Amino acid sequence: MNIWIILLAVMGLSFIIQRTLQSKFDQYSKVSSPHGLTGADIARKMLQQNGINDVSVRSVSGMLTDHYDPRDKTVNLSESVYGSASIAACAVAAHETGHAIQHAKGYAPLKFRSAIVPVVSFTNNIVQWVLLLGVLLIKVFPFLLWLGIALFALSTLFSFVTLPVEINASRRAVEWLDGAGIVDERTRPMAEDALKWAAYTYVIAAIGSLATLLYYISIANSRR
Ligand SMILES: [Zn+2]
Repeated sequence: MNIWIILLAVMGLSFIIQRTLQSKFDQYSKVSSPHGLTGADIARKMLQQNGINDVSVRSVSGMLTDHYDPRDKTVNLSESVYGSASIAACAVAAHETGHAIQHAKGYAPLKFRSAIVPVVSFTNNIVQWVLLLGVLLIKVFPFLLWLGIALFALSTLFSFVTLPVEINASRRAVEWLDGAGIVDERTRPMAEDALKWAAYTYVIAAIGSLATLLYYISIANSRR
């Protein structure tokens, strides 16, 4: 199959997933959770119940800026998640706290992912230039394109290592929300659904990265 068809399909799917995720979050942002705890309350309670006392929860500006930072051990929640008691906010807060628990418990895929972060952020800065020069100078320095491909392969690896980390954090989130009685029969499927669509964005990003890698490999092979 032509690599262009795959790349176009990935772009189309990625667009559909982003739109669906947005509409799911809009929908579940309007549903209040039964107990009325905010995202910040959820994160603190979940940390406490897991015996984690050295992680702080703070509010950060922006939309979809929620993340756990292992360097300073902070669960960072966007303003709309931090202060909201919606099902969407509960799901996001519990997911980010899931990463803090992975960190505390030494979850192996997270350790590996954190270990390659410095390398990948360095290579991400130069990879597009190496690939561009590699394509332009393919007759003179054929190894340059292969160097670019090797660097790009690192970010593809990174996007695949991200998958178990994200899926596991969401599984921890839903299990805790359920066990702690934060969600009930009606709202548990909503939390699961929101997190499922968030996970799909990581899956399509990984597939897109792999397809792009294969595209560069096909260029290198065809111009030999
Ligand atoms: Zn995550």
